[in-house]
Amino acid sequence: MTTELSHWIDGKRVPGTSGRFADVFNPATGEVQARTPLATREELDAAVASAAEAQPAWAATNPQRRARVMMEFVRLLNRDMDKLAEALSKEHGKTFADAKGDVQRGLEVIEFCIGGPHLLKGEYSDGAGPGIDIYSMRQPLGVVAGITPFNFPAMIPMWKFGPALACGNAFILKPSERDPSVPLMLAELMKEAGLPDGVLQVVNGDKAAVDAILENETIQAVGFVGSTPIAAYIYERGCANGKRVQCFGGAKNHMIIMPDADLDQAADALIGAGYGAAGERCMAISVAVPVGDKTADALMEKLKPRVEKLNVGPWSDESADYGPVITGAARDKINGLVESGIEAGAKLVVDGRDMAAPQGYEDGFWVGPHLFDHVTPDMDIYTQEIFGPVLSTVRAQSYEDAIKLAMDNEYGNGIAIYTREGDAARDFVNRINVGMVGVNVPIPVPLAYHSFGGWKKSAFGDLNQHGPDAFKFYTRTKTVTARWPSGIKEGGEFNFKAMD
Ligand code: NAD
Repeated sequence: MTTELSHWIDGKRVPGTSGRFADVFNPATGEVQARTPLATREELDAAVASAAEAQPAWAATNPQRRARVMMEFVRLLNRDMDKLAEALSKEHGKTFADAKGDVQRGLEVIEFCIGGPHLLKGEYSDGAGPGIDIYSMRQPLGVVAGITPFNFPAMIPMWKFGPALACGNAFILKPSERDPSVPLMLAELMKEAGLPDGVLQVVNGDKAAVDAILENETIQAVGFVGSTPIAAYIYERGCANGKRVQCFGGAKNHMIIMPDADLDQAADALIGAGYGAAGERCMAISVAVPVGDKTADALMEKLKPRVEKLNVGPWSDESADYGPVITGAARDKINGLVESGIEAGAKLVVDGRDMAAPQGYEDGFWVGPHLFDHVTPDMDIYTQEIFGPVLSTVRAQSYEDAIKLAMDNEYGNGIAIYTREGDAARDFVNRINVGMVGVNVPIPVPLAYHSFGGWKKSAFGDLNQHGPDAFKFYTRTKTVTARWPSGIKEGGEFNFKAMD
């Protein structure tokens, strides 16, 4: 039976009124398991109006009490970890272990938010002039919104609403329509943790809801994560409408493998970073760049058997390395790009097209693992974000060629270098125009107390996600210059009479 999902408004599940729905699949079976309502502008505006009513009392709740809600939320996330991970795997397709990782990396940002009062302290200059003090405080923006992608349905919503709420804002979450169940469960847990009704609203929807967010005058800021074309659209429209906007987009992450690298380590890293979560990660490595043909040949020898051994299966199969991709359309797009790579002359070292679907899951959205060698920068499999289990190898003849390749790429989310040479690594870290850099670390996602964000077309706006940047993004600074005239003291005592 198909479940009908809802919105989360004023502390309860509320059915949609638009009459429009999106199908939510179980990607392992290909079945429609639920449908989610797609909000109208009127529904979005009503959710915002009620959030605006709830926000002042939440902002007036002292930061420590707000932090205690986060603390309780962490406890509830740990309590419900398996339940959340199962719901997530069923809609997204990722393995159970991976789904728990998705919740965990969100939870860590909530843990960081427990220390939020420290980041909201402001600054003070005593005696900036005669009887003059200057102080700055950070105040919440009001009602803010987050628009999130399908690939981390627990982590990214928490990256957005955690810091925003800790700062005293009300939050409108518009999750991906592909896997909306976990965001609703998170909102329920926030209520159980003590968040007042109306402060966190989940409005499900598609472009219509997004456009309503961009045009709603009450919403002060928008945080987006998703593909680059939509990131660019939201950034432009949001800024034009006077909002504070940060948008995180797509990626094409390279791993440079120097001739002195530990090739076993590099090959293992490429398996996890290239094929984990079926390649549906913005920090996945999708391009291997071995330096020199000798390195490339040796790397291919190590990679080929590892890729061939990858086990693809449903989330309930503990031995699965990765699961299905999110939709049939995503599978067809990936397959189309694989065909284009073959036609363009790249060498398909491991052909995943023949992979048999796991037994009993014949209609799932499966894509076998692919490994390409001799890819050139003009091919579509290099220029486009594939977002699937496909690793392309572009051979570089020198370190300079390798670094130039990555620097010329339009994306700049993550990158890694594998080497034993400290000099080369330092030079690389300094010169590379990418936001998150790994040295012998394949997926350099910063922990919650640092900030996450790419460069070039992988991010629009000037502050990153989580860490101290998030507290800057979700607050505005008010600076007060106060003068208390002297002359009210007599003989060293305050003359309170003079104040009457
Ligand atoms: P997407 O851009 O299709 O969707 C993201 C959000 O935008 C969803 O909520 C969706 O409903 C909305 N949306 C989709 N089309 C829209 C339109 N035409 N107008 C307005 N809103 C629209 O992205 P996705 O497929 O859900 O997620 C995968 C993408 O996200 C990949 O490109 C991946 O690299 C990127 N991503 C980036 C980061 C990062 O931090 N840089 C993190 C995770 C994912």
